[in-house]
Order: sequence, then structure tokens, then C-alpha cells
Amino acid sequence: ATPTSIMAGSGRAAEYGILFKGGEHLEAAQSVQTVVLDKTGTVTHGKPRLTDVEASLGRSEGELLYLAGTAEKSSEHPLAQAIAKGAVERSIVLGRTSEFENIPGYGVKAAFEGKRVVVGTRKLMAQEGVVLDTAVEDRMTDLEGQGKTVMLTAVDGVYAGLIAVADTIKESSREAITRLKQMGIHVIMITGDNQRTALAVAAEAGIDKVLAEVLPEGKAEEVSRLQAQGVKVAMAGDGINDAPALATADIGMAMGTGTDVAMEAADITLMRGSLNSIPDAILMSRRTMRNIR
Ligand code: ADP
Ligand code: MG
Repeated sequence: ATPTSIMAGSGRAAEYGILFKGGEHLEAAQSVQTVVLDKTGTVTHGKPRLTDVEASLGRSEGELLYLAGTAEKSSEHPLAQAIAKGAVERSIVLGRTSEFENIPGYGVKAAFEGKRVVVGTRKLMAQEGVVLDTAVEDRMTDLEGQGKTVMLTAVDGVYAGLIAVADTIKESSREAITRLKQMGIHVIMITGDNQRTALAVAAEAGIDKVLAEVLPEGKAEEVSRLQAQGVKVAMAGDGINDAPALATADIGMAMGTGTDVAMEAADITLMRGSLNSIPDAILMSRRTMRNIR
């Protein structure tokens, strides 16, 4: 192996916004067999927007947004920010919580104005003993089938309404996934989001394999499981949640548009935030290594 060609390869990659942390990663990228893609912020833009606000009987939409928005105000999660932003856009002045707890992969719990407010997944509602009637379940299923993420709100243990958000797929995702498949690389999408939403988003992006409802610590476990089968795995992600999986993968690829934590854990930073940089990086590695041998 000539250090000169590796340096030249790294330099050329950098011109395309593909930053290898070391020559060994440029060497290793050629052998990637499976690419695991995080959904939110990697396949999608990661900027969910409020689409549906449906309060339970006797409550107004404004009231529901006030309660959920106030509970979510202290969370940095993109879903929380979508709710808070949606509330502000509707001229709702959010309150202040006296207690706040973030439950990664599930949602948030807060207390204010003498109320206990919980916002999050079905599982979180089940844990809190909140009963959902079938009409709510059906409505959720319907919205999730459209690729939306639905968050449920309960006040003092009673269901108070649902809020749905939609995130859009990056223009580059579909093309990049087609290219990876043509290169003989398996593509898997991984997400903490529910199965139905994940499948709808994956179908739009052209991904046929999905791992959904994976808890934050579970992403690295899924990468290890693939590696245990002898597969060379690249993981691409942007979030704090993705950092352990990025570090575990044979090649970790962080979106330059994402968190610093993800970039620190990864071997490559994709400055353009485009999934096309993934096949580009692998092709550059293949070409560089062909020159060497
Ligand atoms: P992702 O893999 O998409 O980043 P997370 O693991 O962060 O997902 O979250 C998984 C699911 O937990 C979300 O789809 C959402 O339903 C729920 N959730 C997480 N954080 C929040 C929050 N702050 N408010 C409401 N729901 C949340
Ligand atoms: Mg993400």
C-alpha cells in the first residue's frame, strides 16, 4: 500500500465533502457489505413539522398544544421542537414546568399548574396506565401509514389528544439507495420510530429492510448482531442516539449536518449531509485500493 495514493485519495474525497479521519478508513470502506441508515436526519431532513392536532372530547386544539408544548419545551428532541414551534406559530404562549423528565426513545413527562402531563409513544402511555380507545388506535394507524409520527398526550393519566408530525425525505436519498443496491450493498433503515411510520418512509426511499422501535441503546446492538454474522457494516447517522452504533460499526459515517457527538464517534464525516456521499466514499475507497494493489 502506498501512503501517497491514500493521501491523494483522502484529498480528493475531501473535495467532495467526505472527510476520512484516517487513511485506514479510506482503506476499509471498500469492503462494506451492509449500510445501516438512521431514519430521522439521515434518510429524512430531520425537521419534522406539525401536521395534525386532534384533541380528545371537551378539549380544544389550542389547549392540547399548550399542554404538550409546555411539557416538551425543555427537550432538545426534534419532535419536541416541532411541537413547541407549532404552538408558537399558532400564537400559543407556553408555560413553565416545575418538573421535567426526558425518557429517551419514549417521550417526556412533566408537571406544571398542578397537572401531570405525559407526551410520547403508545408504550409510554401503557406504562403510565393510560387507556386508549379503539378510535384513537385507528386514527394513529391511519396517520402512521402516511409516514407521520404520532405523539400521544395524557393529563393526569387520562388521554388528552394526539399530535402528528411529518418529516420529508432528502431529495438525494432515493438515488443514493438505488446506487448502493446497484453496487451490491445491502441497505437497512434503523429507527426508534414505530414500525408503520418507518415502513412508509422506507418505501418512499426505496429501502426494503427496516428495524423499527429500536431503543437508543439498541442501535449499536443491531450493528454488532450483523457483525457477528461476518458482515462488514457501515452505519450512517446524525444524532446523539446514533453515536454508540457509529463507533461500533466497521465504518461510522456522520452527517455533517448532525450533532458533534455523532461526528466525534464516526470515522467519516459527510459534510454535504447527502446520502450520495455514502456510495461516493465506498467507490473512492475501491478506486484508491485498486491503484495500490
Ligand atoms: P429516532 O430513532 O427517530 O431518533 P428516538 O429513539 O429519539 O427516535 O424516539 C423514538 C420514538 O419515541 C419517537 O418516534 C417518538 O414517538 C418517541 N419520542 C422520543 N422523544 C420524544 C419526545 N421528546 N416527545 C414525544 N415523543 C418522543
Ligand atoms: Mg437521526
